[in-house]
Amino acid sequence: MTAPTGAHNASHETHDYDVVVIGAGGSGLRAAIAAHESGARTAIVTKSLLGKAHTVMAEGGIAASMGNVWPEDNWQVHFRDTMRGGKMLNNWRMAQLHAQEAPERVWELEEWGALFDRTKDGKISQRDFGGHRYARLAHVGDRTGLEMIRTLQQRAVELGIDVYMECTVTQLLKDGDRIAGTFGYWRETGSFIQLNAPAVIIATGGIGKSFKVTSNSWEYTGDGHALALQAGASLINMEFVQFHPTGMVWPLSVRGLLITESVRGEGGVLRNSDGKRFMFDYITDYFKAETADTEEEADRWYDDHINNRRPPELLPRDEVARAINSEIKAGRGSPHGGVFLDIATRRSAADIHKRLPSMYHQFKELADVDITKDPMEVAPTCHYVMGGVEVDPETQAATVAGLYAVGEASGGMHGSNRLGGNSLSDLIVFGKRAGESAAEYAAKLDRRPAAPAADVANAIAVALKPFDDNGDENAYTVQQELQDVMFSLVGIIRTGAEMEQALAEIEKYKARVKRVTVQGGRAYNPGWHVALDIHNMLTVSEACAKAALERKESRGGHTRDDYPKTDPEWGKINLIVTEENGAISITHKPLPQMPADLAQLFEEAK
Ligand SMILES: Cc1cc2nc3c(=O)[nH]c(=O)nc-3n(C[C@H](O)[C@H](O)[C@H](O)COP(=O)(O)OP(=O)(O)OC[C@H]3O[C@@H](n4cnc5c(N)ncnc54)[C@H](O)[C@@H]3O)c2cc1C
Repeated sequence: MTAPTGAHNASHETHDYDVVVIGAGGSGLRAAIAAHESGARTAIVTKSLLGKAHTVMAEGGIAASMGNVWPEDNWQVHFRDTMRGGKMLNNWRMAQLHAQEAPERVWELEEWGALFDRTKDGKISQRDFGGHRYARLAHVGDRTGLEMIRTLQQRAVELGIDVYMECTVTQLLKDGDRIAGTFGYWRETGSFIQLNAPAVIIATGGIGKSFKVTSNSWEYTGDGHALALQAGASLINMEFVQFHPTGMVWPLSVRGLLITESVRGEGGVLRNSDGKRFMFDYITDYFKAETADTEEEADRWYDDHINNRRPPELLPRDEVARAINSEIKAGRGSPHGGVFLDIATRRSAADIHKRLPSMYHQFKELADVDITKDPMEVAPTCHYVMGGVEVDPETQAATVAGLYAVGEASGGMHGSNRLGGNSLSDLIVFGKRAGESAAEYAAKLDRRPAAPAADVANAIAVALKPFDDNGDENAYTVQQELQDVMFSLVGIIRTGAEMEQALAEIEKYKARVKRVTVQGGRAYNPGWHVALDIHNMLTVSEACAKAALERKESRGGHTRDDYPKTDPEWGKINLIVTEENGAISITHKPLPQMPADLAQLFEEAK
């Protein structure tokens, strides 16, 4: 990796590139590799250390229809599963490209050194996940994300791409209506840094930190979503937030930590306090035809997928999360407020150690539970945002010239609900596309854009504002209150009245954050970092709550008690979020028309 060099002036340093990628997760790294290989001078900026992005936490696997375990699998079935999992609200073209290109991207990872688990005949092994017709998740035990990041990182290092670590971007810079670069600060020293570039790719991940119980880490404060909105781009599908069915509930210090879906993919079953395998009571009409309705048939699935219907534990995540929520609410929960997930009676201890090593250690070390002997206690946890920057499906270009978005920060691909394993494949399919498109855009420009000095001075003033000593608010207090409100009022089950209450609270927080003051200096000051992040958290929370209030139906990761049915009319509409002069508004946009040959796939399945 090349050590970045550049000019230093009195207030901050500046560097010039063709493409700047914000984020060093799977999507950011893949995009940077593609931009570099297309000839662009490329840099990656990440607010944590290289190798520490969310992608590293991914456990279960990468979905791709390679057909290694079930030769019947192909891109058409993967496309159909993805669209049905998203309740048909996905951008069909993104879902198509994703299904078609995922296998090639996985083999490419292998060429670059990724060591996947193997089938008996030496091919890349593929495992079951919810909503996928066939076992199609390429994996490395339950540490797939680690292998993916290791491989991509190594590739980026070999290519000599500049990386700015522990460096947070606080604003996108523009020249008129075009992107001109990024402005941010070094977390360690607090000094400012400006990266000039005609093309910027947002690869900043999700928004989960705005919710109290979440599988997401400190990095997921929705920075990229908010930066894009402020720069004039639009967001899509922001009402859809995925609550993963199985997060840890106890001890409290680790509440929300993820338990991979691979546990159910490997045969784990869900039981309530009566010992009942309750998922059979929650099979919706939508999935009735393909879901087993007896334990005997469900258990045969693992031996013979083709002739049997799937176990109900492998329904899409939104369905399973709602079922668990209902059991807990009905008083049939576990002692610490979850339900039981049992792998111990379903697989041998040796299999568990081999196939789910991280889960074994996670429970042993954090909860003193031996999952080879006892069940786990689990409950839904905020996990993933389907909404993100609205992009062109072919190029990942946002609606502002020079701006691109990819990975969890982009929207459209997953519709109202993402299938497990489809994020890692999304990162590498669209990461490559975004990097190539951004490089091409930068190469074709006849003039390099330049941000006006006044805008840079303003970015500095905004970043330093929390050091004004006349405020009376604490950023951590506002953050904590926002997380409580979003989890309890805009969480897994929503009502109009509660979301209006949440929006009223958000308005109060917006007024309060103007009075936030931080103590100490600029050198590694976490209080200051939170004081800056909280603005983004408020922006994405408001976008989410406003879109959720507008959508008067239940679909995927958006369940309303006051509109419990899925409404076909709402199935024709995407909600678009824009911001003007700080005011967030929502508009309706018709879904793009799916071509007849793809629509036919759904007729055939019927
Ligand atoms: C516990 C867990 C398990 C999962 N398991 C799976 C799985 O098995 N299969 C699957 O498909 N998906 C899984 N997912 C989802 C998947 O891991 C994520 O959706 C995906 O990794 C997101 O990748 P990304 O590149 O979009 O963002 P990330 O990997 O999160 O990277 C975001 C990057 O942006 C940087 N960043 C953010 N804001 C700024 C800023 N302002 N300035 C500079 N840098 C910034 C961060 O530091 C980071 O480098 C899992 C998620 C979790 C939390």
